[in-house]
Amino acid sequence: MRKNIVAGNWKMNLDYEKGLSLFSEIVNMVKDEVVGNQEVIVCSPAIHLSSLAKLAAPVKNVTVGGQNIHQAESGAYTGEVSASQVKSTGAAYVILGHSERRAYFGETDELLAEKVDAALKHDLKPIFCIGETIEERENERFFEIIQSQLDKGVFHLSNADFGQVVLAYEPVWAIGTGLTATPAQAQEVHAYIREAIANKYNQEIADNTTILYGGSANPGNAKELFSQPDIDGGLIGGASLKSRDFLDIVK
Ligand code: PGA
Repeated sequence: MRKNIVAGNWKMNLDYEKGLSLFSEIVNMVKDEVVGNQEVIVCSPAIHLSSLAKLAAPVKNVTVGGQNIHQAESGAYTGEVSASQVKSTGAAYVILGHSERRAYFGETDELLAEKVDAALKHDLKPIFCIGETIEERENERFFEIIQSQLDKGVFHLSNADFGQVVLAYEPVWAIGTGLTATPAQAQEVHAYIREAIANKYNQEIADNTTILYGGSANPGNAKELFSQPDIDGGLIGGASLKSRDFLDIVK
């Protein structure tokens, strides 16, 4: 059975001490809420990871993840962080393909496929983000865009490797804008993604893949979004920076 996941994406927010205290609050609040096949993940800046991973270690189903890795193993890449370095902090996941990385750092589908491979090689599970821009939605090209991002970013993987991937549908027009996809709009795309996985791999793998929704998810809309049949949780930006809001979304 696929996992239900709520993942926080802190982006470039919170200094070291503030991150630690927010995470301690989150752990205390959510630890009795996550059971069975549910998981709460916090994807923090790299500076927090090892401390957060230590706090998370004793708590079942609460884990941490990075927000980016370099595709190379190691070497002369000043300022970058490798998959094995992120893994060595105790992190279990890494966000890859976020639209902010694609837009502001020029990350292409081809580069992202290399990063996905680097993550899997070091046993870090990718939370792989896909989603269309507002123009692509208005021109009704979103299925085509989603298919292409899947084909180029993750569909080269073997069955076993693809089984390690969590997908996140994040319509670019909904990220940080306060505009949320309606539950029906999100469900339509999630169902499309699941069908694309079934076509590429098989129905069992499709049924076992966790597909998160991201884009202005908040305590007011999470319940209806997450109750859609193909939406298995959320990737939460702004609302993950407030422990109360994050807890409400988890609940
Ligand atoms: P948001 O961000 O919840 O602030 O819209 C989501 C994301 O970028 O992952």
